[in-house]
Amino acid sequence: MSEVCPSHDPTPLLTAREAQTKTTLRVVKPQERPRRLLLCLDGVPFEVVREAKSRGMFDNFEEPARLLSPFPTLTNVALAEMLGATPPNGYESLYFDREARELRGGVRKYIGRRTPDKVPSSYMDELDYQEPLAFEFLIYVATEAVWRADMRRFRERFLSAPPARDFFGFLKATDGLLHIGGPARLAVALESLDKLLREIQKAAGSETEVVLFSDHGMNLVENRRLHLQSHLARNGYEVVSHMRRPRGRRRVSAPAFGLCGYAALYCGEETDRGELAESLGGLEGVDFSVYRDGETAVVKGAAGGARIHRAERGGETFYRYEQTGGDPLGLAPAVLSLGVEGRFDGAGFARDADWLARTWGHTYPDALANVYGSVFAPRVRHTADVLVSLRDGYYYGATAFSRMVRLLATHGNALRSSSHAFLMSTHRTFSTHVRSIEARPALRG
Ligand SMILES: [Zn+2]
Repeated sequence: MSEVCPSHDPTPLLTAREAQTKTTLRVVKPQERPRRLLLCLDGVPFEVVREAKSRGMFDNFEEPARLLSPFPTLTNVALAEMLGATPPNGYESLYFDREARELRGGVRKYIGRRTPDKVPSSYMDELDYQEPLAFEFLIYVATEAVWRADMRRFRERFLSAPPARDFFGFLKATDGLLHIGGPARLAVALESLDKLLREIQKAAGSETEVVLFSDHGMNLVENRRLHLQSHLARNGYEVVSHMRRPRGRRRVSAPAFGLCGYAALYCGEETDRGELAESLGGLEGVDFSVYRDGETAVVKGAAGGARIHRAERGGETFYRYEQTGGDPLGLAPAVLSLGVEGRFDGAGFARDADWLARTWGHTYPDALANVYGSVFAPRVRHTADVLVSLRDGYYYGATAFSRMVRLLATHGNALRSSSHAFLMSTHRTFSTHVRSIEARPALRG
């Protein structure tokens, strides 16, 4: 038994006694706003929710906003940023530890007792409900049964929770339903969720605000495997699981786990990041690669190369998109409109807010801040040397998982379908788009 997308380290359910202790120890402070039920649906794209709403579902909710999920678009990366929590060790459960210079985590991490080192990020401490550990594995063989059981448990947990305080639930089964069943399967699941939320709201009282959101979106196309390791080997790289001893050959570590649309590459000290990114240009399925070079982020893709510069002036952030031959992020129209409106300074920088206003709905949403941040911001503790964003229709991951499934949807890349998560409330209307790092006040404030 296996899984296709363990990009979210599952934590076994607390025992009843642990749960009780956790509840008792929680500091309850009086709240001035209405009680809030916060519910995260793993992997549900903005477009799917908008479409469901247009068919009359979730009509007790205001219009959804696009919640901009950070690249790589994966659960722990996204939720840590959205909730202002500690960054997880790596992008997924299997990761490269830069200090130990070896791969760590993986499936072994799921086995045994729940210990602090198995909690990937502090956001998990805020969860009042998440699926039992076994569900993460079972969702890929018994999707409907697991979804129904997950909803039933969530309902019971919410209805028996202290009515004075907020409740934060996380339903992960939606991610598996999409990966394996595609959008048709998810649509059926959302109908049952819609019914459940109406029932819950009736029980809790209409003054209870329900906030529904997702961590990342998903492409809704069948995805095939990216032959990354054989390509690296053909290009003279040695793909390794540790770099503890120096070697003569150019070493790269490429953790392969969940079947997702990105790859994180770690280099030995003899391996040049630029050459590595360049060599990936010829591999079918690669959209672009990004790596740090001094204070800039270098982007290399089939459509050419560019350098992203960032500057802070008077408490404001500015970005410059320096095209070094081509337009890998497809920003020419945004550059043109910023130029026409006179938004560039003498050095070619424009305000972060101006870039965002023109690119939140772009092929690569919020392209400059997001792609730059992927190699500079502490989205994970062990940031990759080269991050690779794949085209929709391709994934990289563990061979053992890929042999078992037909992947009808996936996420992980910097494209719109995966980057546009959603956020909506029964009580509040949000703006058209909300950046993940600015989401906490909307979610918890
Ligand atoms: Zn997933």
